[in-house]
Amino acid sequence: MTEPVTSIEISGRSQLVGVMGWPVEHSLSPPMHNAAFNALGLQYVYVPFAVEPVHLKSAVQALPALGMRGVNLTIPHKEAAFVLVDELDSSAALAGAVNTIVQVDGRLKGFNTDGIGFVLPLAAEGFDFHGNRGVILGAGGAARSAAFSLVARGMHITIVNRTLERARALAEAVNQWSSNSSVDYVVLNSDDSLRQTIRESALLVNTTRVGMHPYETEPPPISAEFLHRGLFVYDLIYNPQETQLLRVAREMGCRTLNGVRMLVHQGAAAFELWTGHKPDTSVMETAVLWGLMR
Ligand code: NAP
Repeated sequence: MTEPVTSIEISGRSQLVGVMGWPVEHSLSPPMHNAAFNALGLQYVYVPFAVEPVHLKSAVQALPALGMRGVNLTIPHKEAAFVLVDELDSSAALAGAVNTIVQVDGRLKGFNTDGIGFVLPLAAEGFDFHGNRGVILGAGGAARSAAFSLVARGMHITIVNRTLERARALAEAVNQWSSNSSVDYVVLNSDDSLRQTIRESALLVNTTRVGMHPYETEPPPISAEFLHRGLFVYDLIYNPQETQLLRVAREMGCRTLNGVRMLVHQGAAAFELWTGHKPDTSVMETAVLWGLMR
């Protein structure tokens, strides 16, 4: 793998985009987007903004004054940004959170590209959604994007979470949205019922933080005995690239996918919203993998 070109030539015509987070110094989005701008020869530059939560409102309101095309929002700003935009795209309204803002003529429109970022890599693997059962571990922001995307593609979903109340709230939100869906929920330690649900499932998605750097040695969120060869195991974590869950699943013969391509595709969708151009996602992926090796 050759090192991607992530440095950008800045001129008076450069358009500014970036990511607001707190903290933001470990974000892989600046090299990922700048590599893609470079590859297409676009005069854009993507910078990290370390924005304390108390300053988020003034930072977002400053986008038109600075002539910025838009920003991404990352932890902990996605939910707070929801009420700071002038208009919400349906993707953000469903997610209850904004991860991308586009500024046009002083107006701010909020989008959420996590759902499309989540589902495209799975579709690219040839996964057959319609009519199949899936289990989502976790009930936070990423689980919400995953649940709506999978139900929209005709899957039957069970939400499994440590805090039952959050699983119930997410299941109810999806069921209210789709009259055809009957999303179930169980608590994470309900072993017998969980084992049975996973046995009947084609997909297991981990959206919990269990196994994420720097806690790589944490055991998987569910017992390895619950996995079976017919299961596709998708862990949204991208650092490390192979969590304990993915390792066990791979050794058992399951198809597996980590969160790198979700990061790339949620970024690619934002890129297209800002520039009107489709980026080269392989360039973006190389920049992410390069960043993870550092
Ligand atoms: P979040 O809203 O804070 O939700 C975290 C979830 O993890 C909650 O359901 C929480 O359960 C559960 N959890 C946390 N610690 C746990 C533990 N020790 N045991 C069992 N469950 C635990 O976070 P998020 O924004 O959804 O992100 C979740 C994960 O997805 C992170 O690893 C993040 O890196 C990944 N992600 C990846 C991408 C990508 O592009 N690849 C994008 C978004 C997110 P409770 O409700 O009980 O607290």
